[in-house]
Amino acid sequence: MFISLEGIDGSGKSTQARMLADALRAEGREVVLTREPGGSPGAEEIRHLLVDGRADRWSAETELLLFTAARRDHLERTVRPALDRGAWVVTDRFADSTRVYQGATRGDLRGRVDALHRLMIGVEPDRTLVIDLDPAEALARTTRRHAAPATAAPEDRFETMGLPFQTRLRAGFAALASAHPDRIRLIDGRGSAEDVAARVRAAL
Ligand code: C5P
Repeated sequence: MFISLEGIDGSGKSTQARMLADALRAEGREVVLTREPGGSPGAEEIRHLLVDGRADRWSAETELLLFTAARRDHLERTVRPALDRGAWVVTDRFADSTRVYQGATRGDLRGRVDALHRLMIGVEPDRTLVIDLDPAEALARTTRRHAAPATAAPEDRFETMGLPFQTRLRAGFAALASAHPDRIRLIDGRGSAEDVAARVRAAL
């Protein structure tokens, strides 16, 4: 079983991916918890190229190729081997992130996003849970996270793109969910992590 967690920056999807993996393990399943961009040694190297550095380091087309290269490596090295031996895979982001983020940055790239996916990836998760949260609340959460010195992540160029961008992303995820109701569910991301985790379990 291949499950992806999706959502805008600060939505809580990484926490939910962790909690879901823990809950499935507690039921005795083998679970591989992974993430994108990244999730394999090579893809983590590509993640550095994408996430650390100036916003204009790559053109939108080059960025799309790098995300696709990272996903291909993640699929070959981590996801497929795990699924082949019968493990469950829980990934923090997968191809829907590319559809929504790169689609929101440059709408005219959507055709190429889909073509590259067909050519190089070709699989979808069995179930996708989008943690849906108001962008103002999500942005407040990421601001709190960056303000806390003990856990401060390095400044992430994508998370600085602001409210209008995150609002477009939220709409993009909602549109994907209504286009693929059998695979993708929107989960109300408000409330405590435990509240949201209960909704995730109920949806699954
Ligand atoms: O989810 P995570 O914070 O690890 O993702 C790293 C950054 O990459 C995020 O800030 C996200 O906005 C960005 N991203 C992106 N396009 C994707 C996937 C992630 O711009 N397809």
